[in-house]
Amino acid sequence: MTDFNPTRRALMAGAAMVGAAATTGAAFAQGAQSDAGDAPMTDRSAEFPKPPYPEQQQPWPGLEQQMDPRPDDGSQTYIGTGRLRGKRALITGGDSGIGRAAAIAFAKEGADVAIAYLPAEEPDAQDLKRIIEGEGRTFAAFPGDLRDQGYTTSLPDQTVQALGGLDILVNNAAYQQWVPGLEELSDEQFDQTMKTNLYAMFWLTKAALPHLSSGSAIINTSSEVAATSPKNLIDYSMTKSAILSFTKTMAKQLASRGIRVNAVAPGPIWTPLQVTGGQNPEELPQFGADTAIGRAGQPVELAPLYVALADPAFSYSTGQVFGATGGDAQPGA
Ligand code: NAD
Ligand code: MG
Repeated sequence: MTDFNPTRRALMAGAAMVGAAATTGAAFAQGAQSDAGDAPMTDRSAEFPKPPYPEQQQPWPGLEQQMDPRPDDGSQTYIGTGRLRGKRALITGGDSGIGRAAAIAFAKEGADVAIAYLPAEEPDAQDLKRIIEGEGRTFAAFPGDLRDQGYTTSLPDQTVQALGGLDILVNNAAYQQWVPGLEELSDEQFDQTMKTNLYAMFWLTKAALPHLSSGSAIINTSSEVAATSPKNLIDYSMTKSAILSFTKTMAKQLASRGIRVNAVAPGPIWTPLQVTGGQNPEELPQFGADTAIGRAGQPVELAPLYVALADPAFSYSTGQVFGATGGDAQPGA
């Protein structure tokens, strides 16, 4: 396993947040009041694993704790400053990858967190429970299949019962399988991708609305593929474009109620999605090498974006898409 240096990395996290604040404005700057103190400006890229990555495959949906190197979820490095104190968040696919890094950052910012995930992912969920409760926050775990409408529409009620309310909804779970061509794209896969990535978001958002009040935030995870349309991700790319449309229409629907709706568009990020059929296994060792930054991103590198979009201080941004693509193209405004 790749060795990380948590102490040095913690310093880097603080420094990076100070850097981000300098370039992205006041809303982000709130997160920069950290322990970093007078830490110098530092390029965190030097600290993260670079290609080639070890060859590996897991059966879907995979476990983060079995990846090599293990993704950086921010548990050792993200520094919170109380930006989400007292908020209650529900995150789909919160057990691993990007959703997990958002869950940890939310907890470190003072929020209680509920996650939805597949029963097969229980080991990652249990590990997350330890981290979030270690931050002194309440954690609720709801295993189930988001293609099941009854389960999905029950999640907001379950969250309110467990956490006392719901302020932040993160529609983040997704199904992604690489196919050589349209002939290899089965009806079953097409259906699973649509149900997981679109139907679940529709069902869950609708069921959550009665619980969301003014100041609440919805964050949808889209992707750079909404702009780049890679030829081997046909069904998946369709859904990631549709998520942007949904984000923009819901922003217009909900602005008058004080609820903001934004999307994040990640580039290539080192998560279980990619080692369980999301990418051509032959190309996995060079994952992210063709970005400007020259490597895959780590989930922790997206956490500040999710925190910013959840933070009521970000009050003039709705219907927007925020990229974290390592320099790749980003879906347009
Ligand atoms: P991940 O595998 O860690 O997370 C995806 C999660 O989706 C899984 O943990 C699982 O809990 C959930 N999920 C899938 N099918 C489900 C079902 N039927 N029922 C319940 N839960 C289900 O991978 P990730 O990369 O962190 O993915 C999170 C989001 O980021 C996804 O929306 C993905 O499309 C997006 N994204 C990822 C990348 C990347 O390179 N990793 C790039 C762009 C966008
Ligand atoms: Mg997972």
